[in-house]
Amino acid sequence: MIRVAVGSAKVLGLSRIKMDILPTTAHLMTPGRCVHDCKFCTQAKSSHADQKLLSRISWPEYEEEVVFSALRDKQDRFQRVCLQVVHSDVHDDFLEYVRKIRTVCDLPISVDIKADDIKIVRNTIEAGADVVGLPIDAANSQIFKRIKEGSFSSQMELIKQAADEFDGKISTHLIIGLGESEKDTVDLISELHRYDVTLGLFAFTPIKGTLLEDMNPPRLKQYRRIQLLRFLIYHNFDPDIIYDDHGNITGLDMDYKELMNVVEPSAFQTTGCPGCNRPFYNERPGETLYNYPYGPSKDEFQRALQKAISGLEGYIG
Ligand code: SF4
Repeated sequence: MIRVAVGSAKVLGLSRIKMDILPTTAHLMTPGRCVHDCKFCTQAKSSHADQKLLSRISWPEYEEEVVFSALRDKQDRFQRVCLQVVHSDVHDDFLEYVRKIRTVCDLPISVDIKADDIKIVRNTIEAGADVVGLPIDAANSQIFKRIKEGSFSSQMELIKQAADEFDGKISTHLIIGLGESEKDTVDLISELHRYDVTLGLFAFTPIKGTLLEDMNPPRLKQYRRIQLLRFLIYHNFDPDIIYDDHGNITGLDMDYKELMNVVEPSAFQTTGCPGCNRPFYNERPGETLYNYPYGPSKDEFQRALQKAISGLEGYIG
C-alpha cells in the first residue's frame, strides 16, 4: 500500500474529490507509523491525530500497483513527484519506493526524509531522487529542541554537507509561526541561500490530536513579510534590515520605488522544489491563502505586498 495526497489522487484519476486548484506535484507518502516525534506532525509517534492526515491534507491508501500504473500513464499531468517518507524501524526501506517511481515515470523526484547521516542522502540520490528534502522546520535551536528530536546545529551541518556534495539537489522546509523571531528566520534563510538549498516555506497549521494543536497559525502580516524577505534574498537583493529589540523587522534600506520595481507576484507563491504548488496545505479553500498555489493576480499581489510592508518605516503601507 502507498498513501496519496487527495489532490494528487484526483489528478491520477483515483479520487472524485471536487478541487478548484489542482496540484502540480504528485505527492505520495510511505505507509506505516513514524518512529520519530515532530510535535507539529500528524504522523508523529505521540500524535493522536487522524492517521490519514499530513498537515490538514488527507492521504488515503491505495494498492501500490494501482498508483504506479496511474503515475506511468498520467505523468504528463504533473511537473514532479514527491515522496514523503514516514520512517519505520527499518530506516531506509523507503528506497524501494524511490526505485519504483523512477522505473514508472521520467518526472523529477523529490524525497523528503528525516536523516542524520549523509549516507542516507547518497543512497536516496542513487535510488533515483533528483532532490532530497532534509526539513529543518524550526528557525532556531530552542524551537528545534522543543518540537523535534536531534539538534538544530547537527541538522544544519547535514544540510550544508549534503548541499556541498549535491549542488542544487537539496531542499528543506521551514515552518513559520512556531514562536521564532523574524530575525532568526531571515538569518536562517540567508544561510540556506548561501548553500543554494531550495527552501519550502510553510505556515504553521495546528492539527487536532498533535501536541501543538492549541497553538495559533502565524499572523498573515508576519508570513507575508517572511515571504517578501525570502524573495529578496533568493533573488540576491540583500537589503539591510532594521530590527527592533525583539527581532521584529521594522524597516528595509530599500526605497519604496526600488522595492516595487524588484518584487514579483511569485514572492507570495508556494516555494520549494520547482513544480511543487501544494494547494491548501496550510489553509482551507476559501480562506486567505498563505502560499498562492498559482501566480497571484495583480490585485492579490498588491494586497499581499501591502500586507508585507505595512508598518515598515518609510513605506506607505
Ligand atoms: S518542497 Fe514540495 S516537492 Fe519539495 S520536498 Fe517539499 S513537499 Fe516535496
